[in-house]
Amino acid sequence: MHTQRGLLTIGNGKLGEGIHVWSLPAVSTCPGRTPTCTANCYATKSRFILDAVKARLDWNYQQSLQTDFADRMATEIRRKGCQVVRVHVSGDYYNAEYAEKWLWVMRNRPKPRYFFYTRSFKIADIAPTLEQMAALKCCRVWYSIDKDSSVDRIPDGVRLAYLQVDEGEEPELLDLRFAVRRLRKPRFALSLLCPQEQGKAENCGDCGKCYR
Ligand code: SF4
Repeated sequence: MHTQRGLLTIGNGKLGEGIHVWSLPAVSTCPGRTPTCTANCYATKSRFILDAVKARLDWNYQQSLQTDFADRMATEIRRKGCQVVRVHVSGDYYNAEYAEKWLWVMRNRPKPRYFFYTRSFKIADIAPTLEQMAALKCCRVWYSIDKDSSVDRIPDGVRLAYLQVDEGEEPELLDLRFAVRRLRKPRFALSLLCPQEQGKAENCGDCGKCYR
């Protein structure tokens, strides 16, 4: 009997094992990427460059193109009893059709809590779907920004996550900050910095700020 490979995996060290994960290849699926996020993307380094991981992400991308992707994802979420689903540890909503598939999944499987960070809000035909996701009770939407990008309008339910790569950056608008490793030291301002990056939380399961 042929057994179909699952779409979701269990969270890595930062996320914790209570969170299910869906990812795509980084950069090529990120139409809203900026020079800063491309240059500092964690998903182009370390374990993400292993052949097995790259092959898995390519396979995921191929699955996302299939017409039954949303149905398979929804079925798997129910079968696995997912509590929290992190969409795109790597990758992003690469076009409107793909974003619509995820909106369908969230509407039809509202039991887990979904969360993601995205730069695809910059893409005119994807942004409305992200706003519809942000209006769902089951979904936490973070717009990712950095020194190269800004947000003209913050839709209801959307929060802002800022990626800091230089010491002197003083962003005016943000709800959460991520920083490159060298800026995660106590001598730098740590306000709103992700607790896991500060060493105050072991993982996202321990913290929950982004999805509760
Ligand atoms: S703030 Fe908390 S939930 Fe969000 S990424 Fe950091 S550890 Fe994870």
